[in-house]
Amino acid sequence: MMAKLAIIAHGGAGADPLKKSNIEEAIQKGSSLLESDACAVDAAVEACVILENDPAFNAGTGSVTRLDGSVLVDASIHVNDGRLGFVASMPETPNPIRVAEALLDEEINGLGGIGAREWADQRGIPRSAVTPRPPGKTASGDTVGVIAMDSEGVMVTATSTGGCSDQPAGRIGDVPLPGCGFWVESGVAIAATGIGEAITREMLSHRVHGWISRDGMPMGRAFEKAIKTRFDESTDVGLIGMTSDGSCAARANTNMPWASWNSDGIRG
Ligand code: ASP
Repeated sequence: MMAKLAIIAHGGAGADPLKKSNIEEAIQKGSSLLESDACAVDAAVEACVILENDPAFNAGTGSVTRLDGSVLVDASIHVNDGRLGFVASMPETPNPIRVAEALLDEEINGLGGIGAREWADQRGIPRSAVTPRPPGKTASGDTVGVIAMDSEGVMVTATSTGGCSDQPAGRIGDVPLPGCGFWVESGVAIAATGIGEAITREMLSHRVHGWISRDGMPMGRAFEKAIKTRFDESTDVGLIGMTSDGSCAARANTNMPWASWNSDGIRG
């Protein structure tokens, strides 16, 4: 049986809700790829690239600066067949999700820093200086995440961030850490956003994944429980998710622009 096509994306916990229209562009790209038979990896990556190329978001091109003035990016991709790719603290990389994608079929799962950049150079993945955001923007927020499912039922998470501003150059948040910023397995896909340290301490994506896939909790309820019981109110956190029936859900304790589409015509 053919699976439903579905895609959901967010623009970060703590981001301006007006950025929903920017996210809809990414959903448009991903959904038209899925409708023309592209695989979920391509749909998730290309939707993520749209957001990385949009200076409104703290990912790729629009990433925030670290304490030393550098711009370093993190990204991850996870497929429900178990394949995984993540990069951390990469310099001069406008589209880190493409490097994470290139790792999917490698023995190595993850790469960091200059080594990641050199590995990407060897594979022709474009290097260019990323212009830092003007100072004065929020410390976190505007990170991006996408989940897509294709007609074969392949589910993929793709997340990308410049991290939180005013952090040391080598700081790594939840986005490149499996189980923390993302997890997809057995028909449930999760991506998180917000303060990466708190998300990592909770292993948030894996934790809520268990509540949904092992305990049968509806996605929305699992997200609400996690946000209410595992975080204090001053810690920005948000979650998006998808199940293999093509349902999507999103919750946050702050503004989190998001949008979704599935082949039943349901939009969020
Ligand atoms: N989670 C990201 C990080 O801590 C930031 C965010 O989602 O806003 O790097």
